[in-house]
Amino acid sequence: NTSIMLFTRDLRVRDNPALAAACGADHVVPVFVFDNTILDGPFAAPNRVRFLLDSLADLRRSLRGLGGDLVVRRGDPVTETARLARETHASALFLGDERSAYATRRLARLRGLDLDVSAGPGITVVPPGDLTPSGGDHYRVFTPYWRAWEAARWRPVADSPKAVRLPPGVRPGRLPRLAGLVSGSPSPGLASGGERAGRERMAAWLREDAADYERVHDDLAADRTSRLSPYLKFGCLSPRELAETGPDGFRRQLAWRDFHHQVAAAFPRLPKDDYRPRGRNWCRDDAALAAWRDGTTGVPIVDAGMRQLRREGFMHNRARLITASFLTRDLGIDWRHGLRHFNDWLTDGDVADNAGNWQWVAGTGNNTRPGQTMNPLRQALRFDPGGDYVRRYVPELAGIDGRRVHRPWALPAARKRALGYPPPIIDLD
Ligand code: FAD
Repeated sequence: NTSIMLFTRDLRVRDNPALAAACGADHVVPVFVFDNTILDGPFAAPNRVRFLLDSLADLRRSLRGLGGDLVVRRGDPVTETARLARETHASALFLGDERSAYATRRLARLRGLDLDVSAGPGITVVPPGDLTPSGGDHYRVFTPYWRAWEAARWRPVADSPKAVRLPPGVRPGRLPRLAGLVSGSPSPGLASGGERAGRERMAAWLREDAADYERVHDDLAADRTSRLSPYLKFGCLSPRELAETGPDGFRRQLAWRDFHHQVAAAFPRLPKDDYRPRGRNWCRDDAALAAWRDGTTGVPIVDAGMRQLRREGFMHNRARLITASFLTRDLGIDWRHGLRHFNDWLTDGDVADNAGNWQWVAGTGNNTRPGQTMNPLRQALRFDPGGDYVRRYVPELAGIDGRRVHRPWALPAARKRALGYPPPIIDLD
């Protein structure tokens, strides 16, 4: 008998329950389909596609090491799966159970094929829908979710496959080049994708930084959070494995990720609609929005975050909070503009996490603390007290020592003019 393993965002061989189950068959066809619908939409950001290609090349290496290969196709994943099933006489299909609106529709269509379809866990630690409050469909507030999550029994870790046997006659196909998939260039400081790179990063972080996580995770200049989010986004690492290995505070962050995924599953319009009305109209200010995107607002901590995003395809969580609060609460601009820009650049850009966090900051979301505006200057002095984060990303300000870097508008006029840095678009003092 032959099974198909359809990889989507679980690009790993370790602790991959769907792959482990598929390998129970005599022959397995591990396949990834470059989905034209996704490639034609906002997913096709150069940073994520570059990371995806790295991850697929690495997955292919691992599967070849096990005697198999990664089959690569392009088109509609359902049509391509059906074609492959006909060619290989496969009778079963395995895949990770993802619950975004798009993935849910895709799964429903796959279930219409003449195949025995199993969608297994592996994308989150606890699958969306496994934990529900009594009398409700999903948790709306994080703390009770977190308590239930901590008390939940997690699935057993899946065995790594010992061998992958392809059925005879399957053409694996070539991995496309970046330029054939997307226009534009990735960020110069983009991390390399793949399970191997992810495991190296994970091991180094657990060794050097994990023990200090609680103390330093908000320190912008220290940059000592795990930076594992892109590997989790593409499933190069198992969130289940990380939840077991990482320290307490870190585990709580993984629970936040699961929380957003269960909200998005229960409320598929999360990336589009306010969860609760804001009660005021958003402002339209194209010049301010452009300055925010370009990192030229004249507010150093905001500009540093926005420039980190373009330079690395990544932004520190504290900077995400500050820049998002600045856009929605100081400038009064609709969070959907911010979400789209983040989605254009973030390597970890994810429908559920991006929208859930934007809604939370904007005060329109599930777990909301309305009215909480972060003063960017106070945040800067608290989380980048020495100013190193700003100097790292805003070269115009590299010559200003210490905390004074956060208030360049307070410098003498001649010094200010010489900086070539814009005045702030709002008055923070
Ligand atoms: P660590 O501090 O090492 O945390 C470990 C892991 O926990 C992360 O890798 C991530 O998977 C998860 N995590 C941590 N914080 C959150 C959170 N608030 N929500 C969900 N998961 C979390 N994260 C994304 O993965 N994709 C996004 O598109 C995304 N968009 C965001 C947008 C805004 C406006 C904000 C404020 C936050 C967003 N985040 C998003 C959450 C968070 O900023 C990143 O997950 C984190 O910065 C990644 O860095 P790290 O891996 O070093 O995190």
